[in-house]
Amino acid sequence: MGKYFAGISAILCGVRRTRIFGAVCCFAVVCVMAHISSARAQQNQPQQNPTQQAVAPPQANESLRTVVLDAAHGGTDSGARGPTGLAEKDIVLEFAQAIASSLRAQGFQVVMTREGDTNPAFDDRAQTANAQTDAIFISLHVGSSGPQGSVRTYTYLFPPPDVEAAAGGAIAAQSATAPSAPPGFLLWREAQKPYLVQSGKLGDLIQVELADKFKESPNVSRSAPVYQLRSIAEPAVAVEISNIAMDRAKLEGLIPDLVNGITRAVMAYKTIYPPGGK
Ligand SMILES: [Zn+2]
Repeated sequence: MGKYFAGISAILCGVRRTRIFGAVCCFAVVCVMAHISSARAQQNQPQQNPTQQAVAPPQANESLRTVVLDAAHGGTDSGARGPTGLAEKDIVLEFAQAIASSLRAQGFQVVMTREGDTNPAFDDRAQTANAQTDAIFISLHVGSSGPQGSVRTYTYLFPPPDVEAAAGGAIAAQSATAPSAPPGFLLWREAQKPYLVQSGKLGDLIQVELADKFKESPNVSRSAPVYQLRSIAEPAVAVEISNIAMDRAKLEGLIPDLVNGITRAVMAYKTIYPPGGK
């Protein structure tokens, strides 16, 4: 059962259609560094039945108009947990809601992968993102390490094929039986590939803005195997704030700079966003 979508040549007679078929979730990966267990839990979730989904044609003016905000974790997946019991899933939802308000005030449509204490599977979050046109995806995390009050922005790092093949027997077996993508389609699990350059530009804009306020942060984004970015068919980044050992009030104190930095970066990225996001 494979999940594909028309990511390469989906422009037919001036109308772009994205078709999504089944799901393959077969690669052992890590989330943002300290979220390995979360990624594995997601992998163990039941696979979905094949679905087909047609996305509404884009507007004639294909400028960036939608931001998909992903408050990571949720529900039974608390994410990182601090010494006071503060759960990553709660503070990232607070961050996402604040960023959403700011972006909406700037005229962007904002779609949240979760609005409450739920834990959509990675594939469900990707389906939410991939149902949008002219969109970008920003996943929010609070890590358990790193200098307090620092921020890192990640783009997806695809592993070399030989590393992936050696990643384990079950994975190799799944890969061997997985159908290849039809012409003009991409494997669901490789959906991010055509967008990596744009993801890097978006990531760097965000990181530059945030590094200005969040000391001890790197000046540019970096790539890492952040699993939930892999199947996102649009420019996609993960932003990780350090760290969960801070008390809630201090983390909430970061919200204004986080909101302003990400809003400025998204507005700047809109000016260089290419039609279709590639
Ligand atoms: Zn996380």
